[in-house]
Parts: sequence; C-alpha cells; structure tokens
Amino acid sequence: MKQAAILTYGCQMNVNESAKIKNILEKMGYGITEDIYASDVVFLNTCTVREGAAAQIYGKIGELKSIKRDRGTIIGVTGCFAQEQGAELIRRFPAVDIVMGNQNIGQIPDLLTSILKDRKNPVVAIQDENRLPGETEADFGDGVSASIAISYGCDNFCAYCIVPYVRGRERSVPVKSILKTAEDYLRKGCKEILLLGQNVNSYGKDLGDGTNFAGLLKALGRLPGEFLIRFVSPHPRDFTPELMDVIAADEKIARCIHLPLQSGSTRILKRMNRGYGKEEYLALATAFRQKIPGIALTTDIIVGFPGEEEEDFLDTLDVVQKAAFDNAFMFMYSVRRGTRAAEMDGQIEEEIKKERLRRLMDVQNRLSKKSSEAYQGKMVKVLVEGPSKKNKAMQTGRTSTNKIVLFAGSEDLKGRFVNIHIQTCKTWTLYGNIT
Ligand code: SF4
Repeated sequence: MKQAAILTYGCQMNVNESAKIKNILEKMGYGITEDIYASDVVFLNTCTVREGAAAQIYGKIGELKSIKRDRGTIIGVTGCFAQEQGAELIRRFPAVDIVMGNQNIGQIPDLLTSILKDRKNPVVAIQDENRLPGETEADFGDGVSASIAISYGCDNFCAYCIVPYVRGRERSVPVKSILKTAEDYLRKGCKEILLLGQNVNSYGKDLGDGTNFAGLLKALGRLPGEFLIRFVSPHPRDFTPELMDVIAADEKIARCIHLPLQSGSTRILKRMNRGYGKEEYLALATAFRQKIPGIALTTDIIVGFPGEEEEDFLDTLDVVQKAAFDNAFMFMYSVRRGTRAAEMDGQIEEEIKKERLRRLMDVQNRLSKKSSEAYQGKMVKVLVEGPSKKNKAMQTGRTSTNKIVLFAGSEDLKGRFVNIHIQTCKTWTLYGNIT
C-alpha cells in the first residue's frame, strides 16, 4: 500500500484542512503515516502568519528533497504560504511537485494523477481564492471532537495580519451544509463541534439574505443529543446583543468565549484597525459576565505593536485586570512583510517588547491561577477526551469553560460527559474524582 504523510503548521483551520487531505488520500488508497521517510506523497500544510514560517518550510522542503531523491516521493505544498508564493515556490525549489491553495484541496486526485503521468511538470493550483472550496469530509478520528469550517477568508485587514491577502475575502458556507455536516458528526458519536472561521461571528454577512451567526448557533443548538458547540476565532466587534442572547440561552454553547483584545489602548487599536476601543471592549466583557454568570473569557494580546508607548501598554494591563481573563495567548509583535504594520514608523525595540511581555504574563498568570482556584471543591461536568498524554492511568476531560481536568478512570469513558469533584487546582489543570 502506498503511504502518504501530511505535516500541519499553524491554526485550527489548517488542522481541519489536513483532515480533509487525509480523507481524500485514504479514498485514493493511500495509507496515512507520520513517517515522511516512508512516504510516497508528502503534503506540507503551511502557515504564513509569522515571518519566521518561511525558514521552517524551506528547511522541511530541503529534507524532503533528499527523500525524493531516494524514493521518488511526490512533494505537495498547500496552506497560506503556498497561496502567497504560488509558482515562485517551484522556481525556488524545483523539487516541489504541487503548489496548491487550501480552496483547491478537492483537486488533489487530479493533481496527483497529472504528476504521476508527467513527473517533469510541476502543477500550481492556487486560483479561486475568493470562492468557496468544494465540500470535503474531514474525519478527525478521535470520535469526540470534530471541526467544521463555516467561513473562509476575512474582510477586516487588521494592520498586522496577512490572512486577508492570502485567504481572500470572507465567504460563508450555507447553513444547510453546516447542519448536515454537524448531524453526520453527531451521528458518528462526536460530542463537541468546533466551528471555524477567520472571523467566525461575522458569518453570513456575505450571503445577503439575513443569515447570521446567531441564527446558525440557534439551529445547531436544536440538533438532538448532548454535545457542546465551540467557535474560533470571533471578533469583538461582531458580538451583537442578539448573538449574546442566543449564547446565554443555550447551554450547548460552551461557557468559554474567546475575545481577542490585541491591545488595551484605544490609540493602538485604531492603528491596528480593530474597529473597537478600550471602553467598548470592556463593556463587552462586562456584558458577557453579567449575562452568563460563570462564563470564562480568553483572549489574544500583542505587545510592542509599532508606536506602543508605556502608557498604551499600561492600558493593556488595565483591561487585562478588569476583564479578568481566564487565559490569554500573549505575543510580542513581529514584523510580517506584506502587512501595513510592517511599514509603520515607531517599531519597538526587542528588549522593550520582551520586558512588556514578561510583565503582562506575570499579571495574566496570576489571574489564570485565581480562575482555576475558584473550582476548588466544586462539582463540574467534563467531556472525557481520553487518557492523559503524560500519565496513561489518568483520563483527561474538559469543562464547558475549557478547563482541563485530570481524574482516575477507565478508557471507556472517552467521549462521555461525567461529573468530577475537584480536589486540587493548579494554574492550568484541575484534578478531581469521578462521582
Ligand atoms: S480579523 Fe483576524 S484574520 Fe481577519 S485580519 Fe484581523 S486578525 Fe487577521
């Protein structure tokens, strides 16, 4: 049996698309392996959000080149980096056989056939970045969680982000198709549906028929059975009162909302083109906490964006304290060529960025610890994901608020909701007993 490997870099959207590639290759008769040295086909599913991504991908293509020499492996590159580079990638690396945009994944059988017929002519399929990709199944294999891409591309043009340039304008998948995919997953026994989109809660705007994210969540919530709905990544500006009411009313929608802050300074948010200011953001966080008691809020923060003064950074710390995030992904700004921020004056010295990141992490880590400690002695419902990677005797579960819980239990609990009495709370993990 011929073997294929898929190496995935970057975000959840790429994880989802790799699962689709896997599915297509399996249908073509390939076995899937993680061993690139034993592969007849290797797809690199790339990311280009960070400037350093190119070096990583070039290194991997170099490694694949020698494997190709030994066993004739076909090398395919897909994802944002492939979309951005196009035919240039083949000019620089003649060993690459296929350069393919994410929206062209459905063409894999044709592309492979064409390469197998004529190994000398590489193929480039990166067109149609403003159209919806064809429907392709993605089976995530763990039987517990499944993700569904509900929209592609983004119209926001945040000043630091390359996504709108490589993933095209926002296009929403019709509700009917999403519901059918969700029903299929639930029928297979999945207990968690993760909705994906670069700007997931502006879903439907491009359809022009009144479809919106609130309506989609409502319709998904009506599907029978016990399961959780999560979504990433939303934009604070697109949380309407209607959407918040729908979330508040349906416990199937996870009690953890990601609210990417990026900066707490209204002046910097304006430079970032985020479309909200400090006070609006805080009002949104407060509204969530009031409407849905016990909800967890998480965020993304960039420190050292061009022009960020100490005063702006203090605004960020202020929002972090007031919003009391349960968890945060914190980064130092790094230049990404092709974005507006890369050309801005006021680039910040690395040492200052490092120092601000350290101060931010100190504050956030204390908040995360406090948020975990609030679970001490409580009873929580968790969805069991399976044995812990570090300690096979323990099972891992996740609360609706996205807290990881470890407890002693048998493997057959995987995919079930169970109640756990929390005994010990560490910053990132809770420990308890099944009841
Ligand atoms: S909303 Fe997200 S994906 Fe869209 S431009 Fe901004 S950061 Fe990039």
